[in-house]
Amino acid sequence: MLQVVCIKQVADTETRVKVAPDGKSLDPAGVTWILNPYDEFAIEQALALREKQGAGEVVVVSLGGAGVPTTLRNALAMGADRAVHLRAELAPDSLCVARALAAEIAPLKPDLVWLGRQAVDDDAAQVGPMLAELLELPCVTVVAGFELEGSRATAEREIEGGREVVEVTLPAVFTTDKGLNQPRYASLKGIMAAKKKPIDEKPARPGDPALEVLALELPPPRGAGRIVGQGVAAVPDLVRALREEARAI
Ligand SMILES: Cc1cc2nc3c(=O)[nH]c(=O)nc-3n(C[C@H](O)[C@H](O)[C@H](O)COP(=O)(O)OP(=O)(O)OC[C@H]3O[C@@H](n4cnc5c(N)ncnc54)[C@H](O)[C@@H]3O)c2cc1C
Repeated sequence: MLQVVCIKQVADTETRVKVAPDGKSLDPAGVTWILNPYDEFAIEQALALREKQGAGEVVVVSLGGAGVPTTLRNALAMGADRAVHLRAELAPDSLCVARALAAEIAPLKPDLVWLGRQAVDDDAAQVGPMLAELLELPCVTVVAGFELEGSRATAEREIEGGREVVEVTLPAVFTTDKGLNQPRYASLKGIMAAKKKPIDEKPARPGDPALEVLALELPPPRGAGRIVGQGVAAVPDLVRALREEARAI
């Protein structure tokens, strides 16, 4: 069974990002890069499935610049068998990313393709469904539970006020949500083994973009707080301010 996991390197959410001088992109200086947290669930699920089946291969694929191999090594240290780095400095929209991933993944004919539900930087949540469409495979998004019986997968999706259970026949594409599993930490043995695992680097084929970002702005700085008063006597004023000024209640 061949499983492909698509992973993205993103800015750590603790990083204080700055808009670049072009006003349309982020300044990468001083940014700490991490593996997109939702992609950790995708890697874990593929590894757990390979272990349960006792055989198979897990391939991780990432599109991006020169820093991406560090993130791919993390996935190899967790237990993935091999990695592909699709080299690209530019990927201006989700379709570009999905196209480049599809060009690499289609010839592999995987049984399962895993992605995170969304990348925590651009929050598009589009690459998974677009990739599935390009691969002409069914897609189950925001998967929070998963079982496989032969070639029939049962997936649970966390939806507003409940859980939706869907069945799908492999091959298929899945995007993973929090709660699906507990991603493992890379062991020392895994980190050592990852040094010898191959990372295949090749140019990405993203094609022409369909979207253009016109402007990127940080939210306006928050104003200073106001102390309404002290103790119980201040409550009526606080409630009035919350209702009439802040319109929060
Ligand atoms: C190298 C690079 C250059 C970029 N350049 C520009 C630019 O010039 N202008 C601009 O406006 N935007 C740019 N972007 C942003 C890009 O357009 C968005 O990343 C894209 O629209 C996808 O949206 P998202 O990241 O929110 O992914 P989502 O759709 O939220 O991601 C869902 C899942 O898809 C998978 N995935 C997403 N991205 C990748 C990836 N790169 N490799 C492997 N798997 C992935 C992951 O599993 C992820 O969890 C660039 C991104 C990259 C990686």
